[in-house]
Amino acid sequence: MAKGLLVVYTGASGVGKGTIMEKLLADNKNLKLSVSATTRAPRPGEVDGVNYHYITKDEFNNMIDNDLLLEHATYCGNMYGTPKAAVLELLEKGFDVMLEIEVKGYEQVKRLYPECVTIFVLPPDVKELERRLRKRGTETDDVIKERLARAVEEMEYAPKFDYQVINDDVDRAEKEILDIISNIKNDRNKEN
Ligand code: 5GP
Repeated sequence: MAKGLLVVYTGASGVGKGTIMEKLLADNKNLKLSVSATTRAPRPGEVDGVNYHYITKDEFNNMIDNDLLLEHATYCGNMYGTPKAAVLELLEKGFDVMLEIEVKGYEQVKRLYPECVTIFVLPPDVKELERRLRKRGTETDDVIKERLARAVEEMEYAPKFDYQVINDDVDRAEKEILDIISNIKNDRNKEN
């Protein structure tokens, strides 16, 4: 059994997952974010090796063939996956590891690691999601529409997750997630 906690963190594109995550990582130094591999092009400001490992489709398929990914999925035409070795190493060192992944990835991780903790971040309402996606201004209209449709589909998975956190306020949502993680760790420590 790994020493750290594996946390699956999911939510629709534009829900504010990234902003909450930045705060979580700043406020809980035992928490690490797994850096995914993707075939998507970097957005302005994104840095290779920090936001994602940006790789080609061939490189991605090689990682699948060599069993180097813990899970992977296609999202709006691009491939995304979690490099396995880095996550297992962090868990072994006792860090808690967040996987910021979509629902197909969640299903794979849940099957492989049933003891993982799963958190779904919801928008206060769908209109707010659309507003946030448009405000970000990094996607074309077609991509925004595709991402919104996917977001609505993904929200149907929310009840399957252990926790549903509404991002009505970033600080409040972050605090709720910090509390969820620390309560679970306390409970698991008591059991051991
Ligand atoms: P974005 O292009 O907005 O960065 O990410 C699109 C979606 O892919 C988001 O829902 C994000 O959580 C998800 N995603 C990012 N990395 C991974 C990954 O490694 N695996 C899976 N399954 N989904 C990912």
